[in-house]
Parts: sequence; structure tokens; C-alpha cells
Amino acid sequence: MSIKNSLYAVAKQTKLFTLSNRLTKQHLRILCFHGFSFTDEHLFRPKLFQRPTVFEQRMQWLKQSGFRTLTLDESLTLLQQGHLTGNEVVITIDDGFYSVSALAIPILQKMGFTATIYVTTYYVTHHNPIFRLAIQYLFWKTSRELVQIDDIIDGQHAMEATKGLEGEKTIQHIIAHGETILDEPGRVGLARKIANRLDLDFDELVTSRRLSLMTEDEVATLSQQNFDIQLHTHRHHLPPDSTAVRRELADNRAVLQTITGRSLHHLCYPSGEWTPTLWPLLEKEDIHTATTCEPGLISPHTSPLAWPRFLDSETTPQIVFEAEVSGFAHLLRKMLAR
Ligand SMILES: [Zn+2]
Repeated sequence: MSIKNSLYAVAKQTKLFTLSNRLTKQHLRILCFHGFSFTDEHLFRPKLFQRPTVFEQRMQWLKQSGFRTLTLDESLTLLQQGHLTGNEVVITIDDGFYSVSALAIPILQKMGFTATIYVTTYYVTHHNPIFRLAIQYLFWKTSRELVQIDDIIDGQHAMEATKGLEGEKTIQHIIAHGETILDEPGRVGLARKIANRLDLDFDELVTSRRLSLMTEDEVATLSQQNFDIQLHTHRHHLPPDSTAVRRELADNRAVLQTITGRSLHHLCYPSGEWTPTLWPLLEKEDIHTATTCEPGLISPHTSPLAWPRFLDSETTPQIVFEAEVSGFAHLLRKMLAR
């Protein structure tokens, strides 16, 4: 166990977690999850995919500890009015993977919890595995050390490495080729060819939807079940110029507002990348809150356009999760920063 985790264990035992919770009761806690694992996705990307059993353990702990879940609108009101009690949490789930509706929603419903799902919509309207993720997964999964792609993509060597730093270069080259030169059917065709060359079953990846997002109908079902669908840009990207940012938000809203029948005002920065220079534009776009990927609790003085969240993952020990939710980790970080 790391020194930090040992410290957390002692703090929990000596009721410092309970005390921290009381000291931070006017603060808002937001948790962040991404996709869930059907088979080996959590081994491929432990920060992106979590086993449902781990997620259920977290939800069980929140339930037993007396937490209730809020929407972003409710939390903004309670925070501004000073009416939080320390027993509220906002559960956010980024991207909109198919595994959210298939694996996580039943667990949330069993607990009587709600959640905000930030949905990036390009792959909600194109029902294919996420191209970049599929290529990375295929290279992770293959047991082949070399792959021939010079007949598929110009300018490649006869044989390219699949693993290590050289493999990383091959992956980046394929992704860049797909994302800059090909259209969507072209990218699907390329991913299929690469899968064949790597002795892997592309059809399994397509039909299992392990690397796919929800469809419009699946997002609509979650919205009807009172899960809060919110913005995450259309192409999972916030470009540097304001016209392109407006287009990302407009395209994202066009899909999600049609599905939900509601106007949407909460954004999650894609890949957690943000800068205060975006704020005037986001305010003009009527964005009420925007969440980052930085850990911490939210006080009434935190800018609503840079709300921190705790990113949970497959490899996060339960004690770290509890330290973050209780507020102990937040207070410790503040103390150490002084
Ligand atoms: Zn995302």
C-alpha cells in the first residue's frame, strides 16, 4: 500500500473522513466515470473502462453512507443557496458508451440513483466502433508483432511494428490517415482491414458494441428514465477558434435537444482540456456549468465554468474513492498547497 493510502486508512479509522465530510458540507462533490467493461476493456484502458462490479461497489458504498444524487441544475441551486448538507453527490458519466445503458444504468436504478450523462454525438449518429479507440484496441489485443500496411496506407514500410514505441507510431499514422483523409465508411473499412491483418475479429467488435456509443433511441430511453443528458461536443473536441467551438456546441445540441426535447446548458470539456479564455463564449452560448477532469470539491466561490470532479477508475482503490468523496483528500491537498 502506498504512503498516501496508508494515511487515508488511518484517517478513516480515526474518523477524519467523517469530520472532513462535516467541514466540507457546503461543498459540492462530483464524480466522473466513463465506459464499463464487458470483457477485457478495463485491461486495455483502465482509466476509460471500469468493471461493473467495481462500479457497483462504489454505488453500494454511497448508498450505505447515506448519499443522495443530484442533477446539475439542483446542485447549482443548492450550492448557491448554501443548502448543501454534505450528503449529496453528482454522478457524471462521460462520452455515452453503449456500456453505460447496458451495464451501469441497471446498477444506478437498483440504488435509486440518478446521473448526468455527457454525450459526444458523432458516434451516436454513426453506429460504428469509435475509430481511434478501435485501432488502439486492435494493436493492444493482437499477438502479432509485425503488420503489413504499406499496401493499405502510402508511405509505410513493408512491415511495421505493433508494440512499443514503434507500434505507437504505426497506430498514430493509421489514426491520422483515417481521420484526415477518409470518410466514415472509409474508416470502418480501414479498421476492418487492420483487424484482419492482426488476426482479430472485427465483426465481434462491431456486434458486441464494446467500443461503440449508444444510439439515438438508447439515449432517448435514458432521458425518458430521468437521466440527465448533457453536452460533451459533437466530435469530442473543442477547437481553438470560436466559430469552430460554436459549431461543436451547435452540432452536439442539435442531436441531443432533438432526442431529449429539452434545451441543454451543462458542458463537460472533452478530454478535460479547458482555458478561462473560453468562458465569455460559453456564457454567450448559455452554458451554466462546465466540468473539468481536475480533482477537488466545489465551493460557492468556484467558477461554474471550471467545476472540478473526481475521476474514478478501475485501478482506484476503494479507500481513495472514500477519501475523495468525504472531502478528506480535498482538505489534505489544500493544506499541502499552503
Ligand atoms: Zn470524453
